[in-house]
Amino acid sequence: MTKDFKRAWLGLGGNIGDVKRAMAQALQGLNAHPAVAVQLISAIYKTPPWGMEDQPWFLNCCAQIETSLSPEEILELCQDAERQGKRERNVRWGPRTIDIDIVAFEDCEQTEQRLTIPHPRATERAFVMVPLAEIAPQLIIAGKSASQWRSQLDEDGIVTESVDGGWWL
Ligand code: ADP
Ligand code: MG
Repeated sequence: MTKDFKRAWLGLGGNIGDVKRAMAQALQGLNAHPAVAVQLISAIYKTPPWGMEDQPWFLNCCAQIETSLSPEEILELCQDAERQGKRERNVRWGPRTIDIDIVAFEDCEQTEQRLTIPHPRATERAFVMVPLAEIAPQLIIAGKSASQWRSQLDEDGIVTESVDGGWWL
């Protein structure tokens, strides 16, 4: 029986502790799952805080995975990885060791509080669209490509922190 593999795009970020290490561990953990393969990972970007400005700068990246799991199962794996990265959920948009969002999932559109795909705020956030446009410039989200969204956003302050593609290994 052939399994139905879909691609999905994840946005990772954090601003407390060793974020690069937390993101690397999360990506390795996902990749170790038999039904998930990490296909592409962007550079790490240093980005100014969004929403709540009085907090440290973030590190962000995006990853493309391929999976036979459902979007809900991927969300569970991402939340397991957040817990392992010791994220404490207290302040919305506040400081966090690691946050993992499902930005888009092939052939999936849904609006539920637990899981909305595409992620409803991703296209407004340069810290998501800049790394996403690096790995998937043609990916269409809400009618526009990632690179079109990126070109409309204010990239002020965003700098590439690590260009070595193997940073997560
Ligand atoms: P944010 O990512 O906006 O900073 P949180 O990480 O605290 O906020 O997310 C809160 C909730 O958002 C999660 O409990 C999750 O169930 C829900 N959620 C809805 N859509 C998505 C999505 N596409 N990716 C990740 N979480 C989502
Ligand atoms: Mg989140």
